[in-house]
Amino acid sequence: MCYEIRTSLFAIDRITARSSAYAMISGVNYGEIRVARRIGTAFFGVIARPLHKQRSAPYVENAFANFRQSNEVTMALELPALPFDPKALEPHMSANTLSFHHGKHHAAYVNNYNNLTKDSPLATKSLEDVIKESANDSSKAGLFNNGAQVWNHSFFWNCLKPAGGGKPTGQLLSKIHADFGSFEKFVEDFKAAGATQFGSGWAWLVLDKGALKVTKTGNADTPMVHGQTALFTVDVWEHAYYLDYQNRRPDFIAAVLEHLANWDFVADTLAKASRA
Ligand code: ZN
Repeated sequence: MCYEIRTSLFAIDRITARSSAYAMISGVNYGEIRVARRIGTAFFGVIARPLHKQRSAPYVENAFANFRQSNEVTMALELPALPFDPKALEPHMSANTLSFHHGKHHAAYVNNYNNLTKDSPLATKSLEDVIKESANDSSKAGLFNNGAQVWNHSFFWNCLKPAGGGKPTGQLLSKIHADFGSFEKFVEDFKAAGATQFGSGWAWLVLDKGALKVTKTGNADTPMVHGQTALFTVDVWEHAYYLDYQNRRPDFIAAVLEHLANWDFVADTLAKASRA
């Protein structure tokens, strides 16, 4: 389940029926409650709305049950559901790869992050805030690595879709032309970044001070801590491709660009970043 955090702190003046742990403010539905806290007689909460319009009934039920039992509630992160059927990306990314990559690796980062933040003030902070605050602090390397890997993987799944890839259109393509010269040059740069990332890491398309750039990061490192907005990524950790491609990392990157890239998501992310 992916959540778009609408705001860091929002006054909640009433909660609707138990079946929907939604925050209602002056009769307007603002989305699901992610974290809620009573301060004095007022409730404050972080409001999130689900991406992909998927419902997460047990999560919502638990959130509401916990909210009723305690004045202060912190919700653990959940492993987001994949935004596609695990078999839908075959043959370019197998269900077997996803069962390990999403079901084991991504899940482990979520569990580790929850264990590291449990019962601490960090549990009330957004994942993004924790990532930014723990970056460049060697005493918080475990927290940063697990938090950033949770974020990077959640972002990566959104960058993929069945029958995707090829060339984007519209504003995204115009911006790629403006900043790289051509789509082909972007593809060449992106493939080179992914192929030359030594060891584990990520290849990215980012927005940096208004311009598109291709970058690569090692291990869990992530664009948000470099003042950049991530627009697209390919995971180049071996766990992302080894079952399907063995050592042929360039073939995996090419397959994602040609068959799986979700340019609609990238275009939406660019549009939001450009408005911010
Ligand atoms: Zn991965």
